[in-house]
Amino acid sequence: MSSLHEQYLETMGIQVWCSKNCKPTSMKDEKTLGTEKVWAELEQQVSSCTLCDLHKTRRNVVFGVGNKDADILIIGEAPGATEDAQGKPFVGRAGLLLDAMLATIGLHRDDVFIANILKCRPPNNRDPLPREVKLCTPYLQQQIALIKPKIIMAVGRIAAHFLLNTNQSLGRLRGRVYSYGEQKIPLLVTYHPAYLLRSPREKAKAYQDLLRIQEIL
Ligand code: URA
Repeated sequence: MSSLHEQYLETMGIQVWCSKNCKPTSMKDEKTLGTEKVWAELEQQVSSCTLCDLHKTRRNVVFGVGNKDADILIIGEAPGATEDAQGKPFVGRAGLLLDAMLATIGLHRDDVFIANILKCRPPNNRDPLPREVKLCTPYLQQQIALIKPKIIMAVGRIAAHFLLNTNQSLGRLRGRVYSYGEQKIPLLVTYHPAYLLRSPREKAKAYQDLLRIQEIL
């Protein structure tokens, strides 16, 4: 229920009831309301972003989805065609595999937060350009600061290269726990599910990476 709707009801003297897991806005503390406002403003800003040329070809901005208080933040590269059409990250074939990977450690996509380095689809799924990454990543950095995840899982080469500021191969980057940013958030690198669709024999290694995440948490 929107806070405006609640305010109308309260003005009419009607007590607001809601399900066990939600609090009427009037009972939420100022900090929660402040955080919700910051999220809403950030989403609004990202949705109307025209900083790079990708806004000219996108169908939808892909802001990110999931639990904003998640322990795990999954960061991919950029939306593909299905993500661009639906406005949600990892909803194509690779996304289905990501869901299945999460399920192996008892997680659902609603338990984590999923975002990308770029919020808009590069035409023909080309690699993000350095300028696009530079202009778009402040949004991701704000998301990281708001979520304060206990661990970041970088999926694929592009995400790993940006987050760790390196050019090393993914094979070399896997298997170690890095520390991201001033908050020193543990960060692990794993294979991109699109790569795993092409190289299914590597799935066992991706499973090892997920077990490592479970261990750290
Ligand atoms: N690949 C990504 O890196 N992100 C998506 O959202 C979809 C595919």
